[in-house]
Amino acid sequence: MQSQARCKCRSGFSSTQEVQVCKQCGDDDHESGLAEPSRRALLKAAGTGLAAAPLFGAMSASAQTRPVSPAVGAGPFPTRAWSANSATAPFSPFSVQRRAVGAKDVVIDVLYCGICHSDIHTVHGDWGAPNYPVVPGHEIVGRVVAVGSAVKKFRVGDVAGVGCMVDSCGECENCLADREQNCLKGTTFTYDAPDKVSGGVTYGGYSERIVVTEHFAIRIPPGMDLAATAPLLCAGITTFSPMQHWRLQSGQRVGVIGMGGLGHVAVKLAVARRAEVTVLTTSPSKIADARRMGAREAVLWSDADAMKRLAGHFDLLISTVPVSYRMQPFFELLKLDGTLVNVGALGTLSEADLSGMAMGFGRKSLSGSMIGGIAETQEVIDYCAARNIAADVELIQPNQISQAFERVVNKGVRYRFVIDFASTKRSV
Ligand code: NAP
Ligand code: ZN
Repeated sequence: MQSQARCKCRSGFSSTQEVQVCKQCGDDDHESGLAEPSRRALLKAAGTGLAAAPLFGAMSASAQTRPVSPAVGAGPFPTRAWSANSATAPFSPFSVQRRAVGAKDVVIDVLYCGICHSDIHTVHGDWGAPNYPVVPGHEIVGRVVAVGSAVKKFRVGDVAGVGCMVDSCGECENCLADREQNCLKGTTFTYDAPDKVSGGVTYGGYSERIVVTEHFAIRIPPGMDLAATAPLLCAGITTFSPMQHWRLQSGQRVGVIGMGGLGHVAVKLAVARRAEVTVLTTSPSKIADARRMGAREAVLWSDADAMKRLAGHFDLLISTVPVSYRMQPFFELLKLDGTLVNVGALGTLSEADLSGMAMGFGRKSLSGSMIGGIAETQEVIDYCAARNIAADVELIQPNQISQAFERVVNKGVRYRFVIDFASTKRSV
């Protein structure tokens, strides 16, 4: 939105930026017209100049007003990122240009970013040709280091999260129903999506800083383990949302098919609802872990006796398997009116091999679900904060991303890799 505000030199402001900067004097002081004083005016008043926001430790009140860290400034700024330049090339350092901080934007210093299997699908081109270089990452937790003049939800020094999307129209019926992930004009996903603000494509959280509209940033309550919270921004909301939609109740029986990043969080969320949880896994080594996380039992897909015993057992099945597979044996496990929600395989379900007759007789449903809206993402974070729910994570450094991808594909992660940007920043 433009205003009639003018800078002191009276030459006027640039009409292209939300944070208005005079083309002549480079100032963003407002003489009139804007409700809030400019960031620079506040900084001058505080006598701080362009003060850096400390990354760790307490914040003074004046430092929390409207600061801009020197690395951000008033215009677009570069940030270090790690990109895949092809489906097979190892990740390498890359410089991303982040946009100038708009009035409703926050700048987040990324501390942790989870590695989701969707990152791997995207880089590998499983869902279509990506726009290389790809900078994935949509399980981001970091420290707010600068805020635009109209930001209300965050102050410098707060911890914020960013999940799978960074923009939507905000006006269509789906956005108005808090389902920004289904925006009728096209959701802007956090990476490898057309960037409607800056042009080009979006770059995600495998980077040191990100700029995002405050609406798409999630408040992270104090006391949470930040590394273990990052995966909740995708794995958490993606498995929480179907439990909410299908109203998973205490005592109901839920099966989690595939216990990786999404699956293990699904177990913890379903256990917290006091549902009776069964894990259906291909990995014998995960059986003990499933029980440790609160599942009543875990059975192997190959265990024919157990599969027979569980026929007609489940109210709800949540499938997190990243590839198409024979679903009919799992459909047999649903009760009358039960639903299998596929959140995993997002390509064609070419191997599903479903029996229309069995589906009809049992009035069973196959459904899908895609992450969750911003309000629901905030809800799952608050829910997990209140119940001390967090992912099981293994921290890696940015130069280990390629090896981590391989281990995820080979079902070797227990249970989410999280890139640790915090340790390098702490030593600065
Ligand atoms: P992940 O960590 O790799 O976990 C997937 C699990 O599926 C594996 O650990 C494994 O568990 C099981 N599995 C069975 N057959 C497999 C096979 N052939 N290859 C690999 N795994 C197999 O993946 P994730 O990050 O949880 O993501 C799971 C899927 O959900 C991905 O396809 C991802 O793109 C998708 N996703 C969807 C949404 C959405 O909004 N719908 C959001 C995020 C992710 P066991 O060892 O227990 O068998
Ligand atoms: Zn994800």
